[in-house]
Amino acid sequence: MKAICVNEFGGPEVLKLQEVPAPKAAAGQVLVRVHAAGVNPYETYMRAGVYPTLPPLPYTPGSDGAGVVETVGAGVKGVKPGDRVYLAKSLSGTYAQYALALEEQVHPLPESLSFAQGAGVWVPFGTAFHALVHTANARPGETVLVHGASGGVGGAAVQLARAMGLTVFGTAGTPKGMELAKREGASLVFDHGKAGYTDEIMKASGGHGVDVVLEMLANVNLAADTKLIARNGRIVVIGSRGEAAINPRELMGRRGSIRAFTLWGITPAEEKEIHAGIGAGLWNGTLRPVTGREFPLREAALAHKAIMETGAAGKIVLVT
Ligand code: NAP
Repeated sequence: MKAICVNEFGGPEVLKLQEVPAPKAAAGQVLVRVHAAGVNPYETYMRAGVYPTLPPLPYTPGSDGAGVVETVGAGVKGVKPGDRVYLAKSLSGTYAQYALALEEQVHPLPESLSFAQGAGVWVPFGTAFHALVHTANARPGETVLVHGASGGVGGAAVQLARAMGLTVFGTAGTPKGMELAKREGASLVFDHGKAGYTDEIMKASGGHGVDVVLEMLANVNLAADTKLIARNGRIVVIGSRGEAAINPRELMGRRGSIRAFTLWGITPAEEKEIHAGIGAGLWNGTLRPVTGREFPLREAALAHKAIMETGAAGKIVLVT
């Protein structure tokens, strides 16, 4: 089969398309013919060798993907060959024509969703769910600012928060991204490249501030976020690409808090809740992953460059 292999850490050019043997499903495992693989920013940090946890070399990147079950190992009861599924992590990496996964990493994909949409489920929606439900304990009627609403996680968070009965404010850096955030459920969208936009957000909240901030770029925005939250406001750091300095007094006066996580650190019980929650939304149509640019598998390096550019508008996927 064809797979992207990383033989050494480095720039996008280390992503090599190679012919490798297809894995075989042992007991409790499922082999999936991957039709689309999701591209996430963490895969670029890992490829560059700067992520806190690094896989042994060589490896095939990717935790997100969707396709059709090819074969199942002994004891697998939940899926059978021919089933449409999405992957939430795998044993062998999803940037490949086939991926080997544990049975619990394979989830049914509704007919109404394309494989490209299925490749945009796990990291974006898993992160959005964990941020809103487990970390912020967001309640219906509250207001959430999705600071970076045009990307994979942000778009998922907008849909989820609307479905939960929150009022959603979003930000994006381009007209296309702003339109996407609005279409997916944000009642107001602000341009995070425009001077003074945080004043506009405060004004839109009636001067009270927002109850929850989901932050995609904490190194740039954290100090401003501490001034944007309402009393008992919660800031959830999802993404950060550097250090941030804040004035703790801004939090003290508001009884505010900053929480942070990585999706790798969630508990098995939380993971089960995430799949129950997002699974329900995918099947009833409330959650609809928004796809963006598609690249053939051999152009994984271009996809890695694209995911780090500004001007996000939906999920970037590799088609195999
Ligand atoms: P993505 O699809 O590339 O989207 C990036 C988002 O950041 C876009 O909405 C982009 O908006 C926005 N952004 C750019 N400049 C910004 C600014 N000054 N203020 C606010 N937002 C800004 O990436 P993603 O998959 O959504 O991930 C977002 C971040 O979360 C990444 O850093 C990623 O590594 C991290 N992440 C963390 C976890 C975790 O477990 N903690 C899980 C998933 C992702 P424009 O392009 O419109 O400017």
